Amino acid sequence: MAHAPFTLFPSPIPKRLYKECLDLQPIISNLMFKIANDSGFMEESLREIVKVDDFTKNLLDINRKVQLEGLAQPVISCINRADYMLDKFTQNGNNSTRLRQVEVNAIASSMSSQSVRASKIHNYLLTKYRVKPNDGQGIILPKNDSLDVVAQGLIDAFDSYNKSLGYILLVAENERSLNFSDHLAIEEAVLKKRPDIGFIRKKFCNLQADMNLGPNRELFVDGQKEVAVVYFRFCYDPSNYNFIGSWEVRLALERSKAIKCPSINFHLSGAKKFQQVLNNQQQLERFLEPADAERLSKVFCKLWSIESNTTRGQQGFNVGLKSDNNLVLKPQREGGGNNIFDADIKTFLNKIVNSDERSQYILMEFINSPKEKNWILNYQDECGKNDWQVGPPKELVSEFGIYGSVLGEGNVIKTNRYGGYLVRTKMHGVKEGGVASGHSGLSSLVLIDDERDDIDLLKFYVD
Ligand code: ADP
Ligand code: MG
Repeated sequence: MAHAPFTLFPSPIPKRLYKECLDLQPIISNLMFKIANDSGFMEESLREIVKVDDFTKNLLDINRKVQLEGLAQPVISCINRADYMLDKFTQNGNNSTRLRQVEVNAIASSMSSQSVRASKIHNYLLTKYRVKPNDGQGIILPKNDSLDVVAQGLIDAFDSYNKSLGYILLVAENERSLNFSDHLAIEEAVLKKRPDIGFIRKKFCNLQADMNLGPNRELFVDGQKEVAVVYFRFCYDPSNYNFIGSWEVRLALERSKAIKCPSINFHLSGAKKFQQVLNNQQQLERFLEPADAERLSKVFCKLWSIESNTTRGQQGFNVGLKSDNNLVLKPQREGGGNNIFDADIKTFLNKIVNSDERSQYILMEFINSPKEKNWILNYQDECGKNDWQVGPPKELVSEFGIYGSVLGEGNVIKTNRYGGYLVRTKMHGVKEGGVASGHSGLSSLVLIDDERDDIDLLKFYVD
């Protein structure tokens, strides 16, 4: 048995930046809802990608089919997580820190339960050992509501189905996965609030045999159990569709009357391509009020498309060729392990220079995160051992995710909840960032004064 790696101390974030990313979350959920509802925009933005990327094509095809047929369920929902890193920059000769959005996850918004546990561990450790920051002020550990936001999002969806007896179906990995502990904690959080709700967890590959649609496209599993909500925790990567008939299963789920979390159009709204297409205030105003568009655009990195058939794409491609370790190249995927960094970008671009594949990538400015001094503990570190030592602190960088859950019908959003945070902290210099993939450890947040931009110098002392 092994625990997930976690940091010894919470990770510092200036108060104003914590508030900023919380305040942005309902705006981001609103934006995703608007994108999901605009089939024309979706088609136009993904047109070149679907010519070369079968995965996105299959998703878009399903969206087309269910829209054409007419939706059995007009309510759509999504539990999402927007991820950020802090970015050090210089303005008028002064060093400062700002937020930069990494991406938005529509399905792979996992780890809400582990994030709450990380907050609890840090709260416990700092209290037990009377740790104080060196500025003499009290420690502010913001309350972590992430599990609550996720559980309540599922309950909102369940209640919109308007049937007192029903089930939430969690669609899980085909293979054994450590995520099951997160799944169980979410189930527990839902049942604690609402013992009347049935909860079923099934592997995606088992659904083929275990589900059927009723005369009004009701979704039944295991015979007569009517599913009110399909909660996808899988199906976001091409490798997930590894059995014959997998796409037919996804189509049947989307055709059903159950409320999908996320519905296929909400799933698509998390595509990285939309980050690039809507990369400035003017583009965002297509969907958002000007004030919201301005606020959101302020946390965007510079982004470029690199397709060969437009001048803009050619310009982006040339930026990539000239890159000096300050860029990331990303395909249309979520869930980790797909990005290309540093010198590999040039090599890769030269390989695809004459290929239509270029249209499925976006090029992103590299975020220059401040280093924090901290320790990552993993399961080999047994603190019971007499000779156990953590050694000097390491230079680490953190990524912060804020959770949101949104539900709407037609053009109207009915609930838009947000809160809680996931912090993943990794060694400075490590590029990818997942905890499950072994790149980072769980952390939590400690708020620091806004003026204090020397985050790397933040030190704690023990009484
Ligand atoms: P995925 O969908 O695979 O999670 P991400 O966009 O989150 O894709 O990228 C994976 C990881 O790569 C992130 O967790 C982060 O650690 C790193 N990363 C992504 N974009 C940037 C960036 N612009 N600057 C620095 N690191 C980045
Ligand atoms: Mg990510």
